[in-house]
Amino acid sequence: MNIEIDLTQNLKSKPNADQIAFGTIFTDHMFVMDYSTEKGWYDPRIVPYQPIALDPAAMIFHYGQTIFEGLKAYTTPDDRILLFRPEKNFRRLNLSADRMSIPAIDEQFALAGLQKLIEVEKEWVPKAVGNSLYIRPFIIGTEPNLSLAPSKTYQFIIILSPVGSYYKDGIQPIKIHVEYEYTRAVRGGTGFAKTAGNYAAAYKAQEKATTEGYSQVLWLDGIEKKYIEEVGSMNVFFKINGEVITPELNGSILEGITRMSIIELLKGWGITVIERRISLEELYNAANCGELEEAFGTGTAAVISPIGELNWGNRNIVINKSEIGSLSQKLYDTLTGIQTGKLEDLNGWTVEVK
Ligand SMILES: *Cc1c(COP(=O)(O)O)cnc(C)c1O
Repeated sequence: MNIEIDLTQNLKSKPNADQIAFGTIFTDHMFVMDYSTEKGWYDPRIVPYQPIALDPAAMIFHYGQTIFEGLKAYTTPDDRILLFRPEKNFRRLNLSADRMSIPAIDEQFALAGLQKLIEVEKEWVPKAVGNSLYIRPFIIGTEPNLSLAPSKTYQFIIILSPVGSYYKDGIQPIKIHVEYEYTRAVRGGTGFAKTAGNYAAAYKAQEKATTEGYSQVLWLDGIEKKYIEEVGSMNVFFKINGEVITPELNGSILEGITRMSIIELLKGWGITVIERRISLEELYNAANCGELEEAFGTGTAAVISPIGELNWGNRNIVINKSEIGSLSQKLYDTLTGIQTGKLEDLNGWTVEVK
């Protein structure tokens, strides 16, 4: 399929990424492709960034048939542009698509479309250390129809947003509120998919945590409310007695690409990583006998977010004196080093945009 390119006549001025709030500024162009049951995916194109016109009955507005991805493009010190494991994002987009009864995209073609878009927008990839171009691919059901059935038409869109460094004042460990009332996801539900409702449904708990002075929520399993699942919209890791433990994928946990990369890095360093269920009780006991050495969340936005404190009811644990641990720091430096081309990419994770 050929990608039509329609360039804008009105280029926007480029802001300093450090001075903008995350996800509020968008580049000059976007990638769009349509789907219908008769034609499959068709008409891939790069067009000026613009609003999309949808019928008020479009299915996305009513039953939430939509999925998204999130990844970043980085500038290297020698001015090349790198993507980090982008094929994994399109693989995951298709896993989300399958869960939400959305037709699959051709993953390689989607990646080619993204590369073309970034080529057009290469001046928008921030160069300052820590800044990057956030990439948001998404699919929406567009058929105007209020019946409860999958849409017969869709749009696949990729938009780009320059973002500043997540850690403007250095890495600060965060305080976490353990959530007992609300559940993020349950086995058999949509937790493993990046679909809109999972995130809107989490605002309520986040609001509660914010009000009480915590920066994020620790999500427990929805059935027994005993086992740890994720922290905010990040995967979570604990270093206990020299070993690293992360909750095993169970259908309600989203499989992060940062998570996957960290597991591979740790194994390569000869550190034991165990994917298994881990209860809050176990964590509490490990903290009490001095075996809980480090804890951190992982995701594309922050890469590593150290957890300094966990609170639930009248229990509170402080981890590593609320400082970033040495393993967390090493993981952060290694991953960001590979992503930005400062360290050699021994795993073949980066893809250059030419
Ligand atoms: C996106 C996301 C993550 C992290 O995934 P990455 O691929 O590492 O960015 C973790 N948990 C949830 C719920 C997410 O939506």
